[in-house]
Amino acid sequence: MKVSEILANSTKPYPSIEIVPPLRGITKNELLDSIAPFMEFCPKYINVTSHRDEFEYRQEADGSFSRHLVRNRINETTVCAAIMSRYDVEVVPHLICGGSTVEEIQSRLDNLAFLGIDNIVALRGDSMSGEKRFTPTPGGYSYASELVEGIRSYQGSNAYRRSHGLEADERFFCIGVGAYPEKHFEAANIETDILNLKRKVDAGADYIITQMFFDNRTYYDFVDKCRAAGITVPIIPGLKPLSTARQISVLPEAFSLDIPLELTQEITKHKDNKDAVYQIGTQWCTMQCKDLLQHGVPAVHFYTMGKSRNITDILRECF
Ligand code: FAD
Repeated sequence: MKVSEILANSTKPYPSIEIVPPLRGITKNELLDSIAPFMEFCPKYINVTSHRDEFEYRQEADGSFSRHLVRNRINETTVCAAIMSRYDVEVVPHLICGGSTVEEIQSRLDNLAFLGIDNIVALRGDSMSGEKRFTPTPGGYSYASELVEGIRSYQGSNAYRRSHGLEADERFFCIGVGAYPEKHFEAANIETDILNLKRKVDAGADYIITQMFFDNRTYYDFVDKCRAAGITVPIIPGLKPLSTARQISVLPEAFSLDIPLELTQEITKHKDNKDAVYQIGTQWCTMQCKDLLQHGVPAVHFYTMGKSRNITDILRECF
């Protein structure tokens, strides 16, 4: 089922879960067991992030250089197939522009259509390690809006369309896109960033998921600005509970976001007590989630980043 249908038909807000594909060496059963704690809460869908293949160049004995694939993570399509093999839950693979040509992306869409997957989150992706700015792959897309257009133009084969139960004029995939309540770090200002977000919606995105934020006012202001700019699709807030003291410096740097003074002071006060920090992060996120639900959000998206206990505590308290 498409996320757009889930959003349209849900009578109450629901949680969605985002996981990162496991590192090589983790077995399928270990991965599926790690997701098991979430299944008690019947998430409507599970997002699976996408990670660009990295290459390294090695010098050969004759002085020439050869290119080698250094893949650390199992790819998102394989992880989605594994989840579908055990759980009755929709999967939402992320698809990124970086690292693939337009043709290669079309081939990935065939793989998703083959598996019966109806949903994609379309993203540009970040720069490669060692690169300062994102460099588009030759023959690939430069911005997520172009990827959305590419996915929108995908027709699949007649067999795929039949297996997805699509009418002749029905769109193939439901598409989500990312947004940044505190502005994407490359954008000159929030207004320009929102205009670029609107390009993604105009290109065919059905809904938006935000980057994590720690002060709900940031999200409410952002939604107001998006509505004023003519963006009408659902904007699902993304949350992540802090779980270590280190994250108060790591997350702002990695994701270009603010963590409120009250929260950083509280965490710093207890920085040598891991359990206390975990509790503070979980309680803060629970408070954010309850407030969002009171404000009538359609769903709350949780970035799990390899953790489950804090998220399940929050789900138990809020949903
Ligand atoms: P875009 O929408 O293309 O925007 C990138 C920048 O370009 C912005 O500053 C925007 O304002 C600007 N811009 C957009 N269009 C134009 C234009 N036409 N002309 C000029 N400027 C323009 N990364 C991963 O690698 N894998 C993942 O699975 C993943 N999942 C994510 C999930 C969510 C919900 C979010 C919010 C982010 C995720 N990311 C992921 C991170 C994301 O790839 C990075 O933040 C990336 O830097 C931007 O991606 P985007 O899709 O928002 O890019």
